[in-house]
Amino acid sequence: MSIKLPLKALVTGGAGFLGTHLCRRLLEEGYEVTCLDNLFTGMKSHIEQFADNPRFSFVQHDITQPYRGQFDEIYNLACPASPIHYQRNPLETLWTSIYGMRNCLDLARDTGAKVLHASTSEIYGDPMVHPQVESYWGNVNTIGIRSCYDEGKRVAETMATEYRRCHGVDVRMVRIFNTYGPYMHPQDGRVISNFIMQALNNENITIYGDGSQTRSFQYCDDLIEAMRRFMTLPKSAVDAFFPMGYCDNHNVGVCTNLPSRESRPANGHPRVPVLNTGNPGEYTIKELAEAVLKLLPESTSKIIYEPLPGDDPKKRKPDITLAKELLGWEPKVSLLEGLPKTIDYFKKFPLV
Ligand code: NAD
Ligand code: UDP
Repeated sequence: MSIKLPLKALVTGGAGFLGTHLCRRLLEEGYEVTCLDNLFTGMKSHIEQFADNPRFSFVQHDITQPYRGQFDEIYNLACPASPIHYQRNPLETLWTSIYGMRNCLDLARDTGAKVLHASTSEIYGDPMVHPQVESYWGNVNTIGIRSCYDEGKRVAETMATEYRRCHGVDVRMVRIFNTYGPYMHPQDGRVISNFIMQALNNENITIYGDGSQTRSFQYCDDLIEAMRRFMTLPKSAVDAFFPMGYCDNHNVGVCTNLPSRESRPANGHPRVPVLNTGNPGEYTIKELAEAVLKLLPESTSKIIYEPLPGDDPKKRKPDITLAKELLGWEPKVSLLEGLPKTIDYFKKFPLV
């Protein structure tokens, strides 16, 4: 079988924080990369570093509108990820998750591309199961302040599931837990960028609530490694690990087979290729604030407490057993190693 090179990848949301890392990794691996972004939270300055590479191109496009092209792989990352940004235009956030996913899946169905979708730990909402396993259905408010993001991402997962069953699309999903690192926007609004920028500027460190809520922070390089390992697996390996079990009637557009009555296949894995990707190290937000201040001892910032926003999850920690088993992957960069690298990046920005 002849292998055609270079492989072509479409990265939606490619000018954002994670998209920039992914574009760079794909270019390093020899891919031809089309970065598609509407620059809602992404920055052209992030991707200027690739401008001289003939295998890189940028398309300013809104993924809620169809996009055509022939690609081997589609990485669907388009969607604002920080609460302050996804709540800025909640309907656009919903449309991006829903129509953006549909447009990626239609393109994959029509051209045979495989898809990696960036889902999120937010689909577990304020979880009642700890740590979160992929089989947990979650605890999400449909009408809360976070719902435009959480429910949009849940619909996207459902859509990916049904395109795989009904159209045979090769789709894989990563449920990303809080990920940080260089190329986060300094005004992104997420907790790590906020605390570092506040400490560098000698401003108050704003803990929302009493700071006892927990998160598990993953360094960006670990996530990109997991994404690439997942996409590199042959379809047969993915299908064997996540057996579909029902609706084998692909390419007819309609599922005519009745679903199996068993919700879990014999190997006990989910029936859909979905993996938690995160660092299981769990910290309270207060511990995070203290860690940032310890790394910046010259800062005169003081911790202050502000009201907790609605529906803020009380705890979050991934169970990564499945990713370990399938990908032989686990995160390598601890929070105490990743924070200094991130601080160094933010030091480049002018202080206020
Ligand atoms: P980001 O906000 O930095 O990047 C998102 C990118 O998508 C931006 O460049 C933005 O301009 C672009 N975008 C938004 N709407 C678009 C549209 N309609 N059409 C085209 N482009 C659009 O966020 P990120 O942290 O890089 O997140 C990337 C993806 O990973 C998102 O889908 C997010 O939900 C998911 N994710 C991230 C995290 C995390 O901790 N970073 C956690 C869970 C899930
Ligand atoms: N948070 C905080 N101060 C900030 C920003 C966020 O205390 O300046 C808290 C927020 O309430 C949440 C946690 O930090 O409990 C993580 O917030 P982030 O927006 O980074 O991500 P998410 O809530 O989506 O996990």
